[in-house]
Parts: sequence; C-alpha cells; structure tokens
Amino acid sequence: MYDVKSKKAEEFINHEEILETLEYARENKNNKELIDNILKKAEEMKGISHREALVLLECDLEEELQKIYDLAIKIKERFYGNRIVMFAPLYLSNYCVNGCVYCPYHCVNKQITRKKLSQEDIRKEVIALQDMGHKRLALEAGEDPVNNPLEYILESIHTIYSIKHKNGAIRRVNVNIAATTVENYRKLDEAGIGTYILFQETYHKENYEMLHPTGPKHNYAYHTEAMDRAMEGGIDDVGVGVLFGLNMYRYDFAGILMHAEHLEAAMGVGPHTLSVPRIRPANDIDPATFQNSITDDIFEKIVAILRIAVPYTGIIISTRESKTCREKVLRLGVSQISGGSKTSVGGYAVPEPEEENSAQFDVDDTRTLDEIVNWLLDMGHIPSFCTACYREGRTGDRFMTLVKSGQIANCCQPNALMTLKEYLEDYASEDTRKKGEALIKHELTNIPNEKVHKLAKDNLERIKEGERDFRF
Ligand code: SF4
Ligand code: SF4
Repeated sequence: MYDVKSKKAEEFINHEEILETLEYARENKNNKELIDNILKKAEEMKGISHREALVLLECDLEEELQKIYDLAIKIKERFYGNRIVMFAPLYLSNYCVNGCVYCPYHCVNKQITRKKLSQEDIRKEVIALQDMGHKRLALEAGEDPVNNPLEYILESIHTIYSIKHKNGAIRRVNVNIAATTVENYRKLDEAGIGTYILFQETYHKENYEMLHPTGPKHNYAYHTEAMDRAMEGGIDDVGVGVLFGLNMYRYDFAGILMHAEHLEAAMGVGPHTLSVPRIRPANDIDPATFQNSITDDIFEKIVAILRIAVPYTGIIISTRESKTCREKVLRLGVSQISGGSKTSVGGYAVPEPEEENSAQFDVDDTRTLDEIVNWLLDMGHIPSFCTACYREGRTGDRFMTLVKSGQIANCCQPNALMTLKEYLEDYASEDTRKKGEALIKHELTNIPNEKVHKLAKDNLERIKEGERDFRF
C-alpha cells in the first residue's frame, strides 16, 4: 500500500503506485487540458506531485513542451537567479566491500588501483583545492568497515576544516558515504557536515538487488530508508539522486520525486539537493552494457521538469556531463556544478601517474576551475562559492523558510558576489578577473534591498583591501 508518510521503503516508494502513475501518464500524454492545468498549478512555483510531473515527462506535444521549458527557466530565475554554486569532489578511499555492477570500485574488480588517503595526503589535497579557489567539498568514500570506518571519515572531516592556507578555507564539507545507523549519522552531524548525500541509484527494487548483488548495499530497504535515519540523527540537509541509465528513467524519475515527497511528509523537510548523474565509462565499466541510457534531449527534459516539480531543491550535475550539455541544463534548472574535479583518490596535489587508475568514472568536462568560472561568466552566470546558509545555521526547514519567503535574492545574490570577489582577488587569471569585476558591478544592481545592497558594496571594498569571509 502506498503511504507517503510510512517509514517503510516499500510503502513510500511503492511499486504499484509507480506502475499506476506510469500508466496514468501514458494515458494522458496528449491530454492538453490536463497538461495546461498542471502547468497552471506549477506557475504558482510551489511544486507539483510525482503523478503530475510524470504526465509532463510523457508529454511530447511541441507547444506544451515549450511551455514546460519556459516555466522551468522562469522558476530557475525566480529562485536561483543566474547564480551557480561551485564545488569539488574529494575521493578519500576507493576500498569497497560492495558489488555494485556499474561502479569500478566494486570489490571484485582486481584491475583498479586501490588507494586510501592518509591525513597527511588529505592536507595536501585540501591545500591544492584551496589554491584552486574551492570552498565547498563533497567527500566520497567506498563502503569498507575495515579500511574506511566512520572514525576515519570523522577524522578526515576534522582535518579538512582545520586547514587554513593563505586566504583559503573549506567552509562546507558535504559527505557521500554508505547508508549507516542513526548513531553514526549523529556523529557526522556533530562533525559539522553540510549535506549528507546518498544516491539511490535506482528505486526499482528488483533491479536494485540485481545491480547490487553482494555487500551491505544489497539491502534495498536499509539503503532507501537511510535519509530518514540521517534526519533522525540530526542531519537537516540531505541530498538524493539516481544514476540515470540503470533502469527505466521514468520509473526512477517517479521514485526520486516520491522520495522527496516522503521526506517532506514524514520528516518535515524535503531533500536539500537532487543529483542527476548519468552512467559514464570507467575502469571495468562499459556504459553500452546498460540498456537504459538516456539521450541528451531526455536528460534536459528531466532537469526541466524536476525544476518545476521541486522548485526549492537544488539540482546538481557533475563533470560527468560535457560542456555542451552543462550549458543547456544550467539554464533549465541546475543550481550547483563541480569544477576542476578529479575522480581519482588523490590527484589534486599531484596528478595520478598514468600506470595507476583509481578513478570512479571518466570526467567529460576536464577544464580547470578557472576555465569553468570564466565560461560561466561568459554566459552571464555568477559563479558562487557561497556556504553562508550552513554556517548561519539556516539548514533544513529554516533554509526552506528562507527560500519560500522570496528573500533569498537578498542573501544569495550578495553572498555570490562577495565570494566571487574573493575568488577573483585570490585565485583568478587576469582575464577571468576582468570579466568577473564587470559582472559584479552589473549584478550589484540586482540586490533588491537597499540596506543589503549598500552593505554588500562596502564589503566588496573591504575584500579588495584584504578582508575575507563576509556573509548574509
Ligand atoms: S557505488 Fe559506492 S558502494 Fe558501490 S562499489 Fe562504488 S563505491 Fe562501492
Ligand atoms: S545564501 Fe544559502 S542558499 Fe544562497 S547560495 Fe548561499 S548557501 Fe546557498
């Protein structure tokens, strides 16, 4: 039985409900009146249900599709403006006891180079990341109670936050580790993590079990219910995601929205972010062996409708995607991207030697962070290194209240400009600096509140004089 508030995975991600939803969407794919009504509701920018979103996903009426894309762009502009938050992944260890068939870290893979960073290695990596200009990291580690116990993760977080090199600082550490217990989530919360990220990969239980044949991750319910436990452990911000290309994309699209609805209904706040990775080539992994890969067109449609369905939730894409694809989805709804990423264990301080390969997937967008910042500026986006909400305690429902209040432009906009200014002063190339300064000048006028505008202007001057770390 479908029950959005249930704590049982198979009830809040209910198979029958998804099948019925897919059927309903197929039946109504050309129902213009219904689609117009859904879009009318979506215009209020408070989101739509998974069923309504599925109807939009099935629709291929050209005129309606155009309305969908226009609305996604409008919602993106309303809540996120032209700001794009930057982050980088940091792989701590690729030791893993699981058998996930789509990931080269699976335990049966004997070809991959296994590595784990020591605290000294982490220091070097973090200094290299700070020297690039990064302020926000996503920690990644395989599941291995012997090699990567929770104590190792906690110690690593502590090391990362403690490193202050020149003007650099990592101000928010998001963590992507295996599903764990409430008690362990509490420890992660106490260590001061930002978002706890865990991808579901696929919501289809039977396929999930086939794709995860061995190891603790095989347990579908334990994995699917992890976010509830994380929130019970005190973590306010959780990030969900599916790996598109593992299952029917429609099924997973419904699943991820049902998961978001569940967290909102049962825990009082929906996910902080959604990630939409697509499967990529990697050591031992050939994406052609997965039958359900999705085209760029469908990928863009998915991003646009997610933007409409959950306006308050950030959408993340990584360097898995090409520059061209990233350009399109940035307009349609993506609010966070990684830049200058290494998907190997280590590799920021010293590039990984060719004979070694510890990467989780091949990066498509291999540009440096400065090249990405420059490219974003060329397109009129504001690259933002902001971490203010987390540091001001605006997490979970406090964050959502701020977004819903419409006051986000008085926070995000000045914070984006001030953190961009720090980047320009400390790390940017000459060309990026010129473009960035011009953009800041122009974008200052887009801070609605006069007081905030004045204070931001003063702070920008103080950053020029050498002060750092202002935030609203
Ligand atoms: S996806 Fe995660 S759990 Fe699975 S093999 Fe890779 S690192 Fe391990
Ligand atoms: S002010 Fe908050 S919501 Fe806005 S960019 Fe900064 S951290 Fe994100």
